[in-house]
Amino acid sequence: MYGASSVQAQTLFVRKGAKIIPEFKQAMLDYMERHGFNTIDEMKGIIIPQIMSTDQIINVYDQTKGVVIAEVDNSKCNGCGVCEDTCYYDAISVKDGMAMVDDELCQGCGACVMNCPVEAVSLRNLDLLIELGRQWAEQYAPHFVELGTVAYDPRDVKKYWQKQ
Ligand code: SF4
Ligand code: SF4
Repeated sequence: MYGASSVQAQTLFVRKGAKIIPEFKQAMLDYMERHGFNTIDEMKGIIIPQIMSTDQIINVYDQTKGVVIAEVDNSKCNGCGVCEDTCYYDAISVKDGMAMVDDELCQGCGACVMNCPVEAVSLRNLDLLIELGRQWAEQYAPHFVELGTVAYDPRDVKKYWQKQ
């Protein structure tokens, strides 16, 4: 959607091996079918006109910093350390076999949420982020809201972007 003709996926293959390729391909086809895209070219570059300015990003960040932060479900965490390796901000680390989040350092980026293999991490106050994203999309990209192509997590796109 940012205009690339090809993309590279590395971590996924390192972690799951070549067997992930058919699943990867099917997920892409399912996504395209859900959103009415017949070809890759129909998606290519459609985000570019909607890229946020630095001021807009800072405005959202000011409202989510320290509010939208990761939290670990201790009953699910197995201490594998994937989240620690993933976090760019050193905000999550494993101690005594359990992941712990430093609320001061966490930026709410969601990388640990996406990479935890057992879904033990979630973002606190995610609804706020979704609401800010929805407001932004309605103002700057209403046709994307109609298409359902903008979302925090594409897997949940319909749930998050359904108009009330
Ligand atoms: S990736 Fe998930 S299971 Fe592994 S340490 Fe982090 S929170 Fe725990
Ligand atoms: S949400 Fe982002 S910044 Fe916060 S702990 Fe997870 S990976 Fe690190």
